Amino acid sequence: MISHKIIQGGYFNDTLRSWQTRTSRIDPQCLIYPIFISSDENVLEEIKRLPGQYRIGANKLKEHLRPAVEDGLRTVLLFGIMKNEHKDDMGSNIISTHHNPVFQAIKVLKQEFPSLTIACDVCLCGYTSHGHCGVLTNSGVIDNRKSVELISNAALSYAHAGCDIVAPSDVMDGRIKAISDALKKDNIRNKVSIMSYSAKFASCFYGPFRDAAGSAPTFGDRRCYQLPPGASGLANRLISRDIKEEADILMVKPGMIYLDVVKDTKTKYPNHPLAIYQVSGEYAMLYYASQHGAFELKKAVFESLESMHRAGADILITYYAPQVLKWLKE
Ligand SMILES: [Zn+2]
Repeated sequence: MISHKIIQGGYFNDTLRSWQTRTSRIDPQCLIYPIFISSDENVLEEIKRLPGQYRIGANKLKEHLRPAVEDGLRTVLLFGIMKNEHKDDMGSNIISTHHNPVFQAIKVLKQEFPSLTIACDVCLCGYTSHGHCGVLTNSGVIDNRKSVELISNAALSYAHAGCDIVAPSDVMDGRIKAISDALKKDNIRNKVSIMSYSAKFASCFYGPFRDAAGSAPTFGDRRCYQLPPGASGLANRLISRDIKEEADILMVKPGMIYLDVVKDTKTKYPNHPLAIYQVSGEYAMLYYASQHGAFELKKAVFESLESMHRAGADILITYYAPQVLKWLKE
């Protein structure tokens, strides 16, 4: 197995290369659009708490995404939505090409939009019956070794299916190294980027997402693996650990309320592209405030994204991506 660092996985296509140079403004290449892939192939269903966002079946993807791609969308981030009857306590079906709709989505997107960069969220919470991001021991705590094994397997399966970026969001210790090693073992580390959700804070701003993905834990919460809101020291330790484990891209999540962490990360680790995730609750907050006349949506969205870019984020993950692309053309 290869033991040396493989850095080329961080810049093997045009979009990834563009992230290695800091832009002076928000450009289409900065944007990543997160989308929810339904296991019902023909569904196109609006998500109640995320107005304007949909659960999309593989058969509806092409038609639904084409306008955004024509407006300059370069990257999508895929989340699979699994049927409840296919979930178990290990999240086993995450690697099932039959039950996990992400595999079908990768195929459709690669065929229809060959220049689109495809990132896949990698986590077990959408696939486990208990809704936690890892596997649990009999006493109900996270089984780190088993969780990391399943998560790296899932990342490897997505990579073999054609995904360009694997994005582990589980925050389990050791998963970046395990994924990197698995990709090296199969000699594809130079064709797959690892975007780590490095500083992922436990946050009430994820509420609408859990509704969209059906991934709320059935008991307990995620505070033993996601970061406490005040934990800037812990964020710093996790980021430096992920860099050592060979993450290509770092991420801070949520966005607007953690800009100090973004600024701090970019200052301390300027050599890695840094992503920020404007999460579902932030999307909803701006949407509903504008709906009620508090401000104009376009101005509020641009101001929020500019604040993230100014703080040091190179990559902006936002549900507003298609709308921003339209606005940028005006
Ligand atoms: Zn998760």
